[in-house]
Amino acid sequence: RAKARGRNTWEVHDPSEVDPAVNRMRLLGELRHGIEGGQLRVHYQPRMTIATSVISGVEALVRWEHPTRGLLQPAEFIDLAEESGLIRELGAWVLDAAVQQGAQWSRLGDGNAPVSIAVNLSARQLADPQLACMVQASLTRYGFDPSLLTLEITETALMENPVMARKVLTTLKALGVGLAIDDFGTGYASLTYLKEFPIDELKIDRSFVSGLGTSDGDCAIVSSCIQLAHAVGIRAVAEGVETDYQRSTLLTMGCDLAQGFHYSRPLAPELLEDWITAQPPSVASGRAAGPGPAHAEPDDD
Ligand code: C2E
Ligand code: MG
Ligand code: MG
Ligand code: MG
Repeated sequence: RAKARGRNTWEVHDPSEVDPAVNRMRLLGELRHGIEGGQLRVHYQPRMTIATSVISGVEALVRWEHPTRGLLQPAEFIDLAEESGLIRELGAWVLDAAVQQGAQWSRLGDGNAPVSIAVNLSARQLADPQLACMVQASLTRYGFDPSLLTLEITETALMENPVMARKVLTTLKALGVGLAIDDFGTGYASLTYLKEFPIDELKIDRSFVSGLGTSDGDCAIVSSCIQLAHAVGIRAVAEGVETDYQRSTLLTMGCDLAQGFHYSRPLAPELLEDWITAQPPSVASGRAAGPGPAHAEPDDD
């Protein structure tokens, strides 16, 4: 294009428009500095047992308190961390912070604190030979019960190298942690792998859940995913539940757990504690997460 307009086109280029590669390099430097300098935060989104509307745990989601740009979401820096290899430090930090927080909440033991914690792992972390050691180190450091930790791996990351993934998952599973396939339905996992991986939970991607009520196709996909999960003996979790209609549809379909703005956005730890305290008491609060009666009403009173 520049050629067609003549050789000097670059001279009219807006000088304030910095080369994206330069921007990335700068952001990368800032991120490295930010990780070391304690600028990362973890927010927690409740995971609800649909049948009882009781919190069963939380998912840890990283944020970056950038000194000038404010609180940044993962979309603005996770890919960069992944491509540069910084995800190793970032991931280790998030895991450690989440396990520490989980251990603190479980020591409170007052029923007002979430205890089980889910942490996301990237494709690159999955390929890191130190991963299992790192997970074990955090569990040991805070004395956290491994069965209360779930590691989430996207379907896409698993399918990048299924043979390697299966080995790593088996090693992680031996630590006693739970394993979830994240963003399920977006990555072409074959059913064979689903059966062979030591998975405890299937998280149905938000893109399908958001179509409940508007798309018959999405409705069929969500329902099939739930049945598939139950057929292989694992939990089904719906991501991105935003409306009460979606919640009640998922309940009818027999989905076990749900996360989404309908219940709560991801919250800073102290705000999550406030949110839990403000939840109405449930008659069924003694019921643990897991497949409940398919038609139980999640009534609070
Ligand atoms: P994810 O693991 O699938 O997490 C769910 C994302 O959906 C979160 O976005 C969450 O805030 C958002 N979400 C939850 N409920 C709703 C809803 O009802 N509606 C809508 N529109 N969105 C909802 P977030 O926090 O921006 O994270 C995006 C992705 O970044 C995550 O997707 C995960 O893949 C990645 N990520 C986040 N934290 C970490 C981390 O510590 N390590 C790694 N490797 N990846 C992370
Ligand atoms: Mg996740
Ligand atoms: Mg997801
Ligand atoms: Mg996602």
